[in-house]
Parts: sequence; structure tokens; C-alpha cells
Amino acid sequence: MFDGFSRKIDYLRLSVTDKCNFYCMYCRKKDLIYNTIDQLSKEEIFMIISAFKKLGIQKLRITGGEPFLRNDIFEIIDFAHSIGIKNINITTNGWLDTEKIKKVIKSPLKSINISLDTLEREKFRYVTGIDGLDKVLRAIDELKEYKRVKINTVLIRSVNLDEIEDLISYAKKSNIIIRFIELMPIGIANQIFEDEFVSKDEVIKRFKGIKEVATDKVSTAKYYYVEDFDYTVGFISSVSDHFCKTCNKVRVSSTGVLYNCLFDTNGLKLRDYLDAEELLLKKIEDFVKKKKLIRSLKSDMPMFRIGG
Ligand code: SAM
Ligand code: SF4
Repeated sequence: MFDGFSRKIDYLRLSVTDKCNFYCMYCRKKDLIYNTIDQLSKEEIFMIISAFKKLGIQKLRITGGEPFLRNDIFEIIDFAHSIGIKNINITTNGWLDTEKIKKVIKSPLKSINISLDTLEREKFRYVTGIDGLDKVLRAIDELKEYKRVKINTVLIRSVNLDEIEDLISYAKKSNIIIRFIELMPIGIANQIFEDEFVSKDEVIKRFKGIKEVATDKVSTAKYYYVEDFDYTVGFISSVSDHFCKTCNKVRVSSTGVLYNCLFDTNGLKLRDYLDAEELLLKKIEDFVKKKKLIRSLKSDMPMFRIGG
């Protein structure tokens, strides 16, 4: 499927729940009350994934909220695989017990992105509201032996600007990919954005020898070889250097609303068309044609609902 600017749209990011067991300071704070609103059922998710497969989606990322909180998450992954989607990936906070880790290893998931903003126990509790660092590190350790694991680290001035070097050393020692993500002004992150935002350039300037490495044209991450560490690290700089021109993705929220961009607030309610597949396909295609060339500057949408 193509949008109005001839960009090929073959990547779907699907938020399967807005529930989460963490309270990250930039996403879903503990002192706010969140009602889970009308989450998609397994059957609805199957219909949505099927429709997008028919429209040419080749890559699926399952996100949330915390996707592993759904009891049927492995059925969803297996279903996507059974209809021929080979590139299935998931983003998780890494709060996984042994049973789930075993299931992830056996699943057809191609890669697991795990969020990890700090290597210090107290800071981890401060960022996420949960005393969970050891559990997350254990999950990373076990999964990396069997699956492609990538660490997502949101740059937060008061939390991890002094930990960049330690995080790179950790990634190198564990032989996993690390990507530093610029804090985005979305949902409650708008409240801390001014104080906590750190740009990619501010981090890059700290290293003496640094060279950009060629990547896939549609990759949102840019990779740099850092001579000081003899290691390559990624940056997702969606604020300082947006990558709209090569965007190949659309998103579906946990309530079944299709958005052309993370920063959009107007979406298409897919639930209105789920009982008529032909109409559903047409509505999706027409909606995707309207995808804007450049994204908006900020959004009030909760990140845990649209899926990061
Ligand atoms: N719960 C899972 C997790 O934390 O990985 C998946 C959902 S979470 C919304 C997806 C990703 O979005 C995480 O890597 C998280 O750190 C990131 N994220 C959330 N809010 C963000 C913000 N305001 N700016 C940048 N990244 C953000
Ligand atoms: Fe939960 Fe992920 Fe949001 Fe953190 S970033 S509150 S883990 S959905």
C-alpha cells in the first residue's frame, strides 16, 4: 500500500493493550488514574492483522502498554505468523518471568526490544515506579542467547546523561544493540520535556571518534561507530532530526484506531468496519493516502495507548 507521497507503507505498529505494570515518568505516571478503555479483543486483533497483511504489511511490531500482560499474546504472535507475516517483533518493559521467557524463546518473534533507561537500581525505581532492574536484566541475559535483543534507552537529562558510557559498556559486554531515543513531547512527557530533553547531538559531541554507519533507508535509528568504545550504537532522534520523508509505517491503537503518525490525533476507527472486510480494506487504503509528509510538533495522546 502507498500513501499520497508514494511512500510504501509496509510496517504496522500495533498496540495490543493500554495496561501496564510500570509507571514510567515520561509515559504513565503512578499518581495519575488510568482507565483501560475498551481494549481490542483477540478476534478483533486477528481481523485487523489479516486486513493489513492483505494490504501488503510485511513487518509487524507489537507494543502497548505492556504487551506481555495479555494472556493471549502468544496466540496473537502465532496468528500473525500463521498468515505469513515473517517479520514479527515486540517492544516490552522486560518484566518477564521464567515461564514467559521460555515462551518468547519458542515463539516466532524475530526480535525483542527491551526498554532500559538506567543500570542503577534506585534510578530504575525512580523512572519506572517499580523495583525491577534485576528482573529486567535477567530477562535480557536469558533472551539474548536465543533471540535478537535490542535495548531502548530514552535519554533523560536528570537520569541517564551521566550513564551513557556505562550503558554502552553494558551493551558491548552483553553483545546487544543499544539505541538511545530522544524524549518525545507526547502525553505526559510534555510536562517534563523542557527540563529533561537531551538531543542526539549533545550525546554525540561527547565522543572523540564517531562515524555514521550506513543503514537501511527506512530505519528510524541511525547507527554510529564510537571509536572510544570500539562499538556501534543507535540513535532515534525523532525530535531533532525527524525521518518523516522515509516513513513506512502506520499505527493501530489498543482501541482499534488507525493513526498515520505517532503525533496524529485524528484516526480511523477500524471497529466500525470489522464485519465488512472489503469496506475495511478500502477505508484503510483511503485513510493511509492522507498520511502527512511531515509530522506535527507534539501530541497529547497517551503513549501507552497509541504504542511507542
Ligand atoms: N511497555 C513497553 C515498553 O516500555 O517497552 C512497550 C510500550 S512503550 C510506550 C514503547 C517505547 O516507547 C518504550 O521504549 C518507551 O521507553 C518509549 N517511550 C514512551 N514514552 C516515550 C516518550 N515520551 N518519548 C520517547 N520514548 C518514549
Ligand atoms: Fe509502561 Fe512502556 Fe509506558 Fe513504561 S513506557 S509506562 S513500561 S507502556
